[in-house]
Amino acid sequence: SKPIVAIVGRPNVGKSTLFNRLVGGRLAIVEDIPGVTRDRIYGDAVWLDHAFTVIDTGGIEFSGIENEIANQMKHQAQLAMEEADVILFVVDGKEGLTINDEEVANMLRRANKPVVLVVNKVDNFDHTEQYNEFYALGLGEPILISAAHGYNIGDLLDEVVKHF
Ligand code: GDP
Ligand code: MG
Repeated sequence: SKPIVAIVGRPNVGKSTLFNRLVGGRLAIVEDIPGVTRDRIYGDAVWLDHAFTVIDTGGIEFSGIENEIANQMKHQAQLAMEEADVILFVVDGKEGLTINDEEVANMLRRANKPVVLVVNKVDNFDHTEQYNEFYALGLGEPILISAAHGYNIGDLLDEVVKHF
């Protein structure tokens, strides 16, 4: 079956915006995916000659206290590590690095799955040195995108399909 790409990250970093950009409205028929979990949204995506399934792990959002957010993120990251072939870890370039990001990165670094670090909300590429702080997550080179504007999505997808 098709490779699975899971999008994980804090609430409000732009996971659903990225998901919508990748799948363009093509929601997947979830019955075709083994071990499907119902609190997630699945979509079909294509890049070059690669077809794959994308999961928005924030399918059920919540506005919890900080501790619940952390627990929810860890749960979603755990599921992604089990279920996905490639994990997109999305962080918020406008807000900068948070303690939650660091905790989830600690989990993802131990996954034996490829993780692509995505800095979203880079709406302007004039001063990208401010995003160098994300190297501290230990997940390699961050890929800077704007999901809302569609900037650098091609570069991101080139990186993703390398791992198929
Ligand atoms: P999620 O909670 O991680 O699924 O995040 P959403 O996709 O719902 O986005 C949260 C907010 O961030 C929304 O108001 C989006 O419009 C906004 N957003 C998403 N991508 C971008 C972006 O590239 N730039 C900016 N400035 N805002 C964005
Ligand atoms: Mg969402």
